[in-house]
Amino acid sequence: MTAAATRGTLAGGEHTRGVYNFSAGPAVLPEAVIRRVQQDIWDMDGSGIGIMEHSHRGPVIDAMWTRTEAACRKLAGIPDDYAVIYLQGGASTQFSMVPANLLPEGATADYINTGVWSQKAIKEAKLYGSVHEAASSEGSNFDHIPTEIRCSPKPAYLHFTSNNTIFGTEFSAEPACPAGSFLVCDASSDIFSRPIDVKKYGMIYAGAQKNLGPSGVTLVIMRKDLVERCERKLPTMGMYKTHAENDSRYNTPPVFGVYVMGVVFEWILENGGLEGMARRNSEKARAIYDALDAGFYKPHAKADSRSLMNITFNCPSDDLNKAFLKEAQARGFDGLKGHRSVGGIRASVYNAFPVEGCHALAEFMRDFARRNG
Ligand SMILES: *Cc1c(COP(=O)(O)O)cnc(C)c1O
Repeated sequence: MTAAATRGTLAGGEHTRGVYNFSAGPAVLPEAVIRRVQQDIWDMDGSGIGIMEHSHRGPVIDAMWTRTEAACRKLAGIPDDYAVIYLQGGASTQFSMVPANLLPEGATADYINTGVWSQKAIKEAKLYGSVHEAASSEGSNFDHIPTEIRCSPKPAYLHFTSNNTIFGTEFSAEPACPAGSFLVCDASSDIFSRPIDVKKYGMIYAGAQKNLGPSGVTLVIMRKDLVERCERKLPTMGMYKTHAENDSRYNTPPVFGVYVMGVVFEWILENGGLEGMARRNSEKARAIYDALDAGFYKPHAKADSRSLMNITFNCPSDDLNKAFLKEAQARGFDGLKGHRSVGGIRASVYNAFPVEGCHALAEFMRDFARRNG
């Protein structure tokens, strides 16, 4: 049999493991993906050698590399003048790699400050040049996405965090970018959760462990002219150019992470593509927000800024938060404890999180509110 024939389908059968995993990251993966990975850890494509045991320059990994990039390009409609790069060091390494490569000496970069991750990105950019905060929602503990963006006269780029994992807010559309500049987006927690027009961006980056796969690999989608642009003298490993020119295999790449990400791309393609993900995700989030809006609970994000990925709320008291989390855990709802900067509860429901888990949580929320309201 050919490798393709033994690979089978990634559709259907989405929840059999008994626990609903609401973790903010690393997060749930589709069960069909996990089953495929189990096979390939043992024997990749009929080679008699598992995925983690192959040379990153051998033919089996070559084939996987090609398949993964093709699936990524297909699902997001990535144009040919954009590079797809796999890096290590998490999204956090991009916080400094972006300005090191793209913020020239003496220039200013604009940042929209919508939470902890934006702040960390700003901190690193200041090591390389001037930062202008084009907008901020810090004054109200990051409960909304600012609508008024005031850019500096000639920013090198405008950086934003499309989904704020901790606070539960999400841009519903890209911010307007000043002419002559380009958008850089940290999309770690909502990448490929809905259709995306890549051409609007100079660069998109995302740590894989929320929507794409295991931790250890960061996906970068970047306009090719920007890959070349770096003016600063940087270490070889710190330049996008090095990785783009070497097919992300200048050194030993995170092969396993890239592989799992590729299977997730195939899973998305087999399940309606990004439009399918958007439909699923809006049904999922709506179920939980409807239960939130029935009273009792206090949502953190303003209604017009709500994230479809991370839903943040508090019960009327800390004691009730504790009771909620304890009861939820006993019913098989795992990972719901909110981040300390918001407190209360956070339900992370990325692409792979099953639809029925959102309906189950909503039902529990209504029941808990009735008994404690
Ligand atoms: C999780 C997260 C990060 C940090 O990612 P690492 O891979 O741990 O460095 C950065 N930005 C956003 C939006 C995140 O959700």
